[in-house]
Amino acid sequence: MPVRLGLSVEALAQDDGGVDVTFTDGTRGRYDLVVGTDGANSRIRELIFGSKQQPYYTGQVNWRATVSRPADVLCRHSYFGPTNKSGFNPITQTKMYVYILQNVPEKPRWDPKEWPGISAVHETRSSIRTNSFAGPLHHS
Ligand SMILES: Cc1cc2nc3c(=O)[nH]c(=O)nc-3n(C[C@H](O)[C@H](O)[C@H](O)COP(=O)(O)OP(=O)(O)OC[C@H]3O[C@@H](n4cnc5c(N)ncnc54)[C@H](O)[C@@H]3O)c2cc1C
Repeated sequence: MPVRLGLSVEALAQDDGGVDVTFTDGTRGRYDLVVGTDGANSRIRELIFGSKQQPYYTGQVNWRATVSRPADVLCRHSYFGPTNKSGFNPITQTKMYVYILQNVPEKPRWDPKEWPGISAVHETRSSIRTNSFAGPLHHS
């Protein structure tokens, strides 16, 4: 299947026989089937269903950092607490990322200068001390 990079879909027009697609570089094509796999802010979804169907914030932030990976970390590890979870996940032979979920009702926008003081780490530490965190759960 030929792949074309650096362009997107401008318009779709479907009839009983197929779909006419106009691309952002001005080219056109007619296809039996169009599959939209363009992610959370999908243009294809917008073209088919209109702008009312939009992703919305559901109240959880995920903090991640890439750090050195100890040799004995072979798979993803998750730790589950009563209100949030944390863990780490190998991404290369030498690196992994650590993550902490934080429940924040309103969608936050923090200045990067504030990050070191962000409450997520302190809340999670305190939660680990005072609540029973289950884990690790090892994912292959
Ligand atoms: C840091 C991070 C870590 C994650 N970790 C995990 C995990 O451990 N486990 C897990 O299950 N999920 C994880 N997720 C979530 C997972 O990555 C997403 O749920 C998944 O990638 C969604 O797949 P998708 O194919 O729907 O969209 P995407 O992976 O977002 O792919 C959409 C593609 O469409 C392209 N695109 C967008 N708009 C257009 C356009 N207008 N025209 C042409 N192309 C377009 C984009 O460039 C992209 O290549 C993680 C997400 C992030 C950000």
